Amino acid sequence: MTHKILIANRGEIALRVIRACREMGIPSVAVHSTADADAMHVRMADETICIGPAPSPDSYLSIPAIISACEVTGATMIHPGYGFLSENARFVQIVEDHDITFIGPSAEHIRTMGDKITAKETAKDLGIPVVPGSEGGVASVEEAKEIGASFGYPVIVKATAGGGGRGMKVARDEDEMARAYQTARAEAKAAFGNDEVYIEKYLQRPRHIEIQVFGDGQGGGVHLGERDCSLQRRHQKVFEEAPGPSITPEERAHIGAICANAVAKMGYRGAGTIEFLYEDGEFYFIEMNTRLQVEHPVTEGIFGVDLVREQILVAAGQPLSFTQDDLQINGHAIEVRINAEKLPEFRPSPGTISHFHAPGGLGVRMDSALYDGYRIPPYYDSLIGKLIVHGRDRPEALARLNRALGELIVDGIDTTVPLFHALLREKDIHTGEYNIHWLEKWLEAGGLE
Ligand code: ADP
Repeated sequence: MTHKILIANRGEIALRVIRACREMGIPSVAVHSTADADAMHVRMADETICIGPAPSPDSYLSIPAIISACEVTGATMIHPGYGFLSENARFVQIVEDHDITFIGPSAEHIRTMGDKITAKETAKDLGIPVVPGSEGGVASVEEAKEIGASFGYPVIVKATAGGGGRGMKVARDEDEMARAYQTARAEAKAAFGNDEVYIEKYLQRPRHIEIQVFGDGQGGGVHLGERDCSLQRRHQKVFEEAPGPSITPEERAHIGAICANAVAKMGYRGAGTIEFLYEDGEFYFIEMNTRLQVEHPVTEGIFGVDLVREQILVAAGQPLSFTQDDLQINGHAIEVRINAEKLPEFRPSPGTISHFHAPGGLGVRMDSALYDGYRIPPYYDSLIGKLIVHGRDRPEALARLNRALGELIVDGIDTTVPLFHALLREKDIHTGEYNIHWLEKWLEAGGLE
């Protein structure tokens, strides 16, 4: 392949892509803001280029800066990582208009899935089960109340343009509806510039189960099973595992086949994640992410495949290196997200890393861009690393996580590591009996104290 890949991202995910490029013999280009001149992804790439000042709208989110960087360096492909421009259909269109290959799906598929109402309609048409709710947007409080009455409370009001858990409000009865509706709209307007909202039945104790899919862009599709990402704080994932402790092989085969067929029918290209809430043996679609997920390494752990490599192959018009039948689950994998945050408030705590030591040994993977003396800039997401462990079964993976967390040293700043030490002392974590509300309830009950 005579390609050169520009990575339109930073931090651990930029490193992750550089590693795949190096193994494939493809030159990599790191872009960086002035605040990231000393960042690890800049040190590791074959070529580097500064694309602007620290604030992301002027650098990592600047489409002209990134296109110019491709032109200057002769990059032929762009890997967007996650976040930033990874799900921006306009960006993808512009990239393609410049004859650069976007490593990801078409602008049209990103647009369809980026609007949650169209995404849900598309999912339904493709035979994917969805959460019962309003048909499209809800235009008034009166209509919202009618929907609440017809589905039965509680319900959740959600932003059509939503993401990152914003613009979502629960109404437990009719009295709460007017407020939930108006607050969700106002939040959506402020966060996304679009105040359209829709309503769904609020599931009381579901798990968050997501299916990893891959489309070859030529009408073929496969699935790589599920990840359970139910341990969430403010709708943000903190601990993910695969396979899901509550999912049977029959359920996996059933929902997996539905998802693989759906991406095949769409003609979808590249990696994607179809997210579900799962309750009492039923799956309910909530959204599709048209990119690589933060938590993709747990899937890589149990299947032994490099998902970034497959993304690059498919983008270059080559076939996936595996078929559905080749994919066999091997053991259990868990990821914990290490954020530069001070507990118990989870307050961002950027600063200088005085000492860093990554854990190692059998079944341990540390994806981070940290090094001794690294100064974490205050401008970006607080995720600074992901610790991923793999074991022959769930108990072995948990024991390994405990051991690896004990070896990890991140001195000089506060991190979320103590959260995981505390979680590993909880019986429910060992039995796998948790749902999307477990972590919040545990925190409220003083779990961290
Ligand atoms: P976002 O794109 O903002 O992340 P999602 O639609 O993916 O929004 O939902 C994020 C989280 O919000 C879910 O993982 C779940 O915890 C909660 N949630 C969303 N929809 C519902 C629902 N209908 N019932 C209960 N919880 C929900």
